[in-house]
Amino acid sequence: MAEVRLENVSKSFGGKTVVDNLNLTVEDREFLTLVGPSGCGKSTTLRMICGLERASAGNIFFDGKPVSWLPANKRDVSMVFQSYALYPHRTVRQNIGFALKMMRVPKATIEEQVRQAARTLDIEDLLDRKPRELSGGQRQRVALGRAIVRDAGAYLLDEPLSNLDAQLRVLMRAEIKRLHVDVARTFIYVTHDQVEAMTMSDRIAVMRDGVIQQCATPEEIYERPANRFVASFMGSPP
Ligand code: ADP
Ligand code: MG
Repeated sequence: MAEVRLENVSKSFGGKTVVDNLNLTVEDREFLTLVGPSGCGKSTTLRMICGLERASAGNIFFDGKPVSWLPANKRDVSMVFQSYALYPHRTVRQNIGFALKMMRVPKATIEEQVRQAARTLDIEDLLDRKPRELSGGQRQRVALGRAIVRDAGAYLLDEPLSNLDAQLRVLMRAEIKRLHVDVARTFIYVTHDQVEAMTMSDRIAVMRDGVIQQCATPEEIYERPANRFVASFMGSPP
């Protein structure tokens, strides 16, 4: 179970506030999308949730327990980054199993968990290949595999489809939705793509200049945008 709650969370870099007093509760097993223009603070927010960045103010809770002071490896989250960041000289099997190896998980268990992740993502037949022998979509699947091989209460995805062409992006949207149902965990998904947000999410948080403008279901955002920015960014009818 993993409910993720941000309470008055802010982040400044060199005196410039990039995340401004954020309040947000992501429910257990929810698919919440953080959407907004480039530079509005989405990645910084995710990095604070996973512990790669420390909040300047405020608190973060997992299932009601404060985690603000826990390092990234002690938090019950797994992150998928925008760039694939696969190890080019390792096989798909080694790439997916890498985190488990670092955690000193026994070899047989790693093999079993890698197999299971690969099965979920339909890449079982690619386990012996190297990243350069894969298509963009296959590489993206491996990147997802690296995150889901580790059981976590919440999975954080930072623009995982932004490097794919339009056609593949549409396909992978559906794959990620299926994955969400399969693993039955909390997903926090970051994108600057309105269509992605509208089609994938249980709820959407629309962000601008470090501030959440509205957090609601896709229907509510579309039909009752909170302000002009939300309406124009999300393409609601005028
Ligand atoms: P988004 O993911 O929405 O595009 P980011 O969270 O990456 O936005 O960045 C928000 C703002 O914070 C940007 O203006 C960016 O330049 C700035 N920023 C992000 N990380 C750092 C950092 N480590 N040092 C200084 N400024 C940063
Ligand atoms: Mg970003």
